[in-house]
Amino acid sequence: MSKEQLVRKIKEGTVLDHVEQGRALQVLQALNIDGKNGNIVTVAMNVSSKKLRKKDIIKIENRFLKPEETNRIALIAPRATVNLIRDYQVFEKRKVEIPDTFVNVFKCPNPTCISNSNEPVSYIIDAVRKNPPLLRCRYCGRLLSPNELI
Ligand SMILES: [Zn+2]
Repeated sequence: MSKEQLVRKIKEGTVLDHVEQGRALQVLQALNIDGKNGNIVTVAMNVSSKKLRKKDIIKIENRFLKPEETNRIALIAPRATVNLIRDYQVFEKRKVEIPDTFVNVFKCPNPTCISNSNEPVSYIIDAVRKNPPLLRCRYCGRLLSPNELI
């Protein structure tokens, strides 16, 4: 069985390829995709790949994710490739980039941070440096490495 057959081709939508092995569900969560809006979402985990040893693939039918959406996954799946498909053909291919700010993607790991109290505030994590990534909670100012957030 070839890799192409493993997950069927989609007619229209977004394919996230080269997602780090085992991270597909975290990616879906960061994208706020919970399967309740009716679009077909196909997840393949631990697929063999030349680039990475194993990878995850996510196919979201009938939805074209915008860069500001897919950039939400830049820390979780930094090598992900975003393919936009129309009539079974890729018409746009792009990489993910770390945005200046992550809103409601990650919780601040500081238990005394106001964003972890019952206050109705969003989780806002700013990127103070992108390569290598260094993040900071906008509320408590704690500096955070990607590993503390993922
Ligand atoms: Zn904080």
